[in-house]
Amino acid sequence: MGILHLTRAVYQALRAHGQQTYPSECCGVLLGHSMQGSWKVEAAVPAGNTRTDSAHNRYQIAPAELVKIERDARRQGLLIAGFYHSHPDHPAQWSSTDLTEAHWLGCSYVITAVAQGQATVTNSFLLAGATEEDKRFEQETILVDGEQTNGLSS
Ligand SMILES: [Zn+2]
Repeated sequence: MGILHLTRAVYQALRAHGQQTYPSECCGVLLGHSMQGSWKVEAAVPAGNTRTDSAHNRYQIAPAELVKIERDARRQGLLIAGFYHSHPDHPAQWSSTDLTEAHWLGCSYVITAVAQGQATVTNSFLLAGATEEDKRFEQETILVDGEQTNGLSS
């Protein structure tokens, strides 16, 4: 199983974002660098959810916003390590829509379940595979400041 390294600040920020946007989904971008084959995330950038038609169970980051986030990241020597979003009143498991709409092979997709406004479990899934045709999600272990989390701590 792969490992995703988060700082406590990033972990808390992405969970708090899910609570703020509840009952809509939040979404954002994770920036960091690759360390021995796993991502070390240094920053979480909140993004606007453009799916106003179905914001409770869909998320989408505007392409122009993503281009700007990536440009700013590169200036700081960081790469796009992955994405995060929330599942209001649903488990922290990827949906078939999540897989269909995930295109960044080798990036981590972090999902936080938010139950009645409170962030509960946070999971991460690596988008594995070499092509769009054989892409798949593989669950990763999340380490927060080097410690394993059960997804319930805050
Ligand atoms: Zn989802």
